[in-house]
Amino acid sequence: MNTTQSATNKSTADSQTTAEALRDELAAANSHVENPEAQQHVDRAIELLNDLPPTPLVECPGCGVVGLPERIAVHDCL
Ligand SMILES: [Zn+2]
Repeated sequence: MNTTQSATNKSTADSQTTAEALRDELAAANSHVENPEAQQHVDRAIELLNDLPPTPLVECPGCGVVGLPERIAVHDCL
C-alpha cells in the first residue's frame, strides 16, 4: 500500500498561493481581534500582503513543468 502521496497539498486549495492563504488567515484572525491596537497590526499585515508582487512562475529543472515555486516543490516529478 502506497501512502506517500497523501500528505501534500492538504492545507490550501489547488489554486491558492501561500500569500492568499495567509491573507485569509489574517482576515479570519481579524474578526476575532478585540484590542484596537492589535487590530491595526492585523490590518497593516493584510495591506502589506496585498502589496506583495505576484509570485513568479518557475520551471522544474527535472521535467520542465511550469508553476508556482511552492507547487513545483511538491509536484509529482518524473
Ligand atoms: Zn518536475
